[in-house]
Amino acid sequence: MSITTLSAPGSEYGPCLDPCGHIDCQEIRHIAQSPCVICFLTIGYDCEITMLEDGSFAHAICAESALEKAGK
Ligand SMILES: [Zn+2]
Ligand SMILES: [Zn+2]
Repeated sequence: MSITTLSAPGSEYGPCLDPCGHIDCQEIRHIAQSPCVICFLTIGYDCEITMLEDGSFAHAICAESALEKAGK
């Protein structure tokens, strides 16, 4: 399970503050605005997230507790 953190817009590694056409920025914004597949809150910035096997994203803590419940 690879864990990553989305940097906030305007920060050193984050996307541009204003809407822009950069592929990287658009991708980060898209992930940040999509819902966690486990708790359904938006992924957001500056928190640990993980990509699940099906390519969807979840908060790292949500994924961990889901795995625990599954007995893995
Ligand atoms: Zn940009
Ligand atoms: Zn979550």
